[in-house]
Amino acid sequence: MPLTLDTNTSLWAARAAPRAPLPALAEALECDVAIVGGGFTGMSTAYHLARRHPEKRIVLLEAKKVANGGSGRNGGLMLNWVNGVEPGDPGRAAGIWRATKQGIDLVEGIIREHALDVRWRRDGTLSVHTRAKGAEEAAREVEALRAEGLPLQWLDGAALPSHLRMVGAVGAVFDPTSGHLDGVSYLEALLPVLLGLGVQVYEESPVLRVVEGATCTLTTRAGSVKAKALVLATNVYTPRLGYFKDRIFPVFSHVVATQRRDAATWAARGWAPGVAGFDDDLDRIAYGCMTTEGEVVFGGGHNAAYGYHFGGGVSFKGTADFASVHKRLLQYLPEAADIPVAHRWTGPVGLSWNRICAMGVRGAEKNVYYALGYSGHGVTLSNLAGKVIADMYDHTDDAWRGLPFYQGEMAWIPPEPARWIGYHVMTRLTGKSPRKRGVKH
Ligand SMILES: Cc1cc2nc3c(=O)[nH]c(=O)nc-3n(C[C@H](O)[C@H](O)[C@H](O)COP(=O)(O)OP(=O)(O)OC[C@H]3O[C@@H](n4cnc5c(N)ncnc54)[C@H](O)[C@@H]3O)c2cc1C
Repeated sequence: MPLTLDTNTSLWAARAAPRAPLPALAEALECDVAIVGGGFTGMSTAYHLARRHPEKRIVLLEAKKVANGGSGRNGGLMLNWVNGVEPGDPGRAAGIWRATKQGIDLVEGIIREHALDVRWRRDGTLSVHTRAKGAEEAAREVEALRAEGLPLQWLDGAALPSHLRMVGAVGAVFDPTSGHLDGVSYLEALLPVLLGLGVQVYEESPVLRVVEGATCTLTTRAGSVKAKALVLATNVYTPRLGYFKDRIFPVFSHVVATQRRDAATWAARGWAPGVAGFDDDLDRIAYGCMTTEGEVVFGGGHNAAYGYHFGGGVSFKGTADFASVHKRLLQYLPEAADIPVAHRWTGPVGLSWNRICAMGVRGAEKNVYYALGYSGHGVTLSNLAGKVIADMYDHTDDAWRGLPFYQGEMAWIPPEPARWIGYHVMTRLTGKSPRKRGVKH
């Protein structure tokens, strides 16, 4: 199944109602805050700022249409935790978990408050352990975190839904607060809310140049914006604006989605009802979710599910090996071989060297806000980022201080050709992509 760019459409985008793009910026504007990027980070930032400051002029510039990036092409899992952080003291680990849960709570709160028509579910996910030693540690951690008041559960192998037993799972952590989100349906539904709050959104308006200062100047093809504050909400694309070039590592992640089937059909093939999704402990994480309409979306699992382009390119080139991704899915759900793949797509994930994302403010005028480098938990964390950035903007950010991502700068990543060689040697020899050790918190 070779990929051509015109077939690179996610399930979420394929089933979205068609919408003409909003007009591109074609004038010179002045505003209080300019947000670059219409994914979860940019849209959540616009939402929180506009709710708090109805008097401020907020402009959001999106290169294509909202949800064009990872927010519209992810695997749909909405998980707690911060990838790259190794659980240490249980009290602190519980604090991190509670902080990230706010990201999911915010999504749910916005959907409910504005009665948005969004495809999502929040009935829990499983983090599967395939190695006995890791499973023992995870079971102990769950006990310690339960003592801190977290609603996690440890499930031994025999208690797992059957499809997860197939991969030799020894057990899993069940988190009842996580779930699945169709990012396109969420952002498309959020867009009119933002417009109603007075946010000026321009699509098909890539920012070509940024000049920082007490007033930042952004240039697009046919317009410009002068802003007192700037928000870089461009995640993996941020280096193209000249920021974090040596901190972000774009790796393509390939995803497949099956045809739709009803719950009974899936139950007969091993996907028990009542679980939104799972991820596992493999070095090349495999993950899957069950959509509200009955498609299994699956990604990762081995090297063929990822790719790195020399120079950190974010436009996909070459072919993606979707057949191997599907083969891997069938190791989880062998009885689903009769349910064909209906969608396949790829997109770049912006990894940091130790996998910890960063949210902060920088620049001589301390008016350039950023949030990026999410890996594994980006759906939750990029939706949380809007609140974190709004709190930084309002100087009400004390609650975030000390969290692993707060004011993060991300570790330095070696330049090319070391980066490309390192990636390919490491993945071929060990099956892992290069990374700095996680940080104990
Ligand atoms: C294939 C894939 C699978 C994934 N699966 C999962 C998953 O299951 N669970 C999970 O938690 N995370 C997952 N992620 C990661 C997650 O989707 C991202 O971390 C998250 O969506 C990042 O949101 P964002 O708003 O920061 O960035 P994006 O959604 O990428 O948004 C950035 C936006 O900026 C725009 N832009 C870029 N440059 C410019 C410019 N110069 N001017 C104007 N606009 C610009 C882009 O068009 C884009 O719309 C996955 C990502 C991919 C690619």
